[in-house]
Amino acid sequence: MENHFRVFATCDIGEAINLLRKRGYEVDVYPHPEPPPKKLIIEKVRSGIDGLITTLRDQIDAEVFEAGKEHLKVVAQYAVGFDNINRADANRYKIPFTNTADVLTEATAEFAFFMMGELARRMWTAERLTRENKWGYWHPYLPFLGDEVTGKTVAVIGTGRIGLAFIKKCVGFDMNMLCYDPAYQNHAFVETIQEMLDLRHARGLVKEKPWIKYVSFEDALRQADFVSVHVPLLRTGESDTPTYHLFNEQTLRQMKSTAYLVNTSRGPVIDESALARALKENWIAGAALDVYEKEPLPADSPLRDPAIEDRCRLMPHFASAGRITRLSIDPEKGMAGRCVQGLMDVLEGNYSGDITKMPYAVNKEAFAK
Ligand code: NAD
Repeated sequence: MENHFRVFATCDIGEAINLLRKRGYEVDVYPHPEPPPKKLIIEKVRSGIDGLITTLRDQIDAEVFEAGKEHLKVVAQYAVGFDNINRADANRYKIPFTNTADVLTEATAEFAFFMMGELARRMWTAERLTRENKWGYWHPYLPFLGDEVTGKTVAVIGTGRIGLAFIKKCVGFDMNMLCYDPAYQNHAFVETIQEMLDLRHARGLVKEKPWIKYVSFEDALRQADFVSVHVPLLRTGESDTPTYHLFNEQTLRQMKSTAYLVNTSRGPVIDESALARALKENWIAGAALDVYEKEPLPADSPLRDPAIEDRCRLMPHFASAGRITRLSIDPEKGMAGRCVQGLMDVLEGNYSGDITKMPYAVNKEAFAK
């Protein structure tokens, strides 16, 4: 099949690019690992490309859509989160954009779970002790202890795709689960999980019967030993329940002083200066972060304070970074495959060219008849 579409990719997404080339697409890939300047994206769009492949590092707004108003037919985002794309602007210019939901759900959820364990059991600090040759003796409680995860209570903030996948991981650790989501409550899923917890108890796999329930945000924060965040970044005006700085001085102070916070969602969901204070002044026990208000994390971030380093794990936006999840060209398995499939659906007019029927298109509302 020959398709003479022109595409600019702001980043190399691996073999999936060749899949497009084999179909006749002319694909120009930004060759450097860091993001291209916005000026270059605008230049490329103005040059008449049909499709633009973006990542969360690219700001896609009216300036970009204006440059592409004559030719640009689709923006294919290589991520599930799309807070870098101005949805209202895309709708105004009637340009559809796609994302890569689902295929990164399990990878992100398991990473959040591992971060929770690493933080609470102090694995980074423990390994450093060995590496720095400071492991002098075995002792019941010196030089430090960690906190167990098994049997504890975890609050899951946001019960969408990744939140629910995270809950599945917690079942195996006999955790009690407090769910909070103001917009989407999956009670059938929660019932199924409770049945699994009941069965584990009935068959003698666990002594105390664990439980799961939906609660208010405040109850979730007040009762949890761990809080794991799985919300999209929604700024004021974008939602009735915005998530920007959902974790701030007031809400961090509602958590137990022994509780740990894990964030794999988006950085601006947490007010980082409040969190740095929360750690320094022991309002909470620790935090593990994969995402930041500014990425990469600036050298002068208060989160880098050596005084809190044992209780603050800092990952480089890495939660979806599994080989298959990132690079598989199968749209059922990999972000790369799903990204190019979303692009092809629009450009090649799949689903009779009806954007509202395309599974990976996000802003369907702009195309509803
Ligand atoms: P999703 O849309 O399926 O789920 C998000 C859930 O959050 C929804 O159920 C929504 O109702 C809920 N929500 C919205 N506002 C809320 C609020 N104020 N309080 C609590 N819940 C609220 O999305 P998903 O696929 O589960 O992904 C969630 C987010 O995770 C993405 O938007 C992305 O930003 C982030 N993410 C990060 C990585 C990473 O590498 N760190 C990887 C994948 C996704």
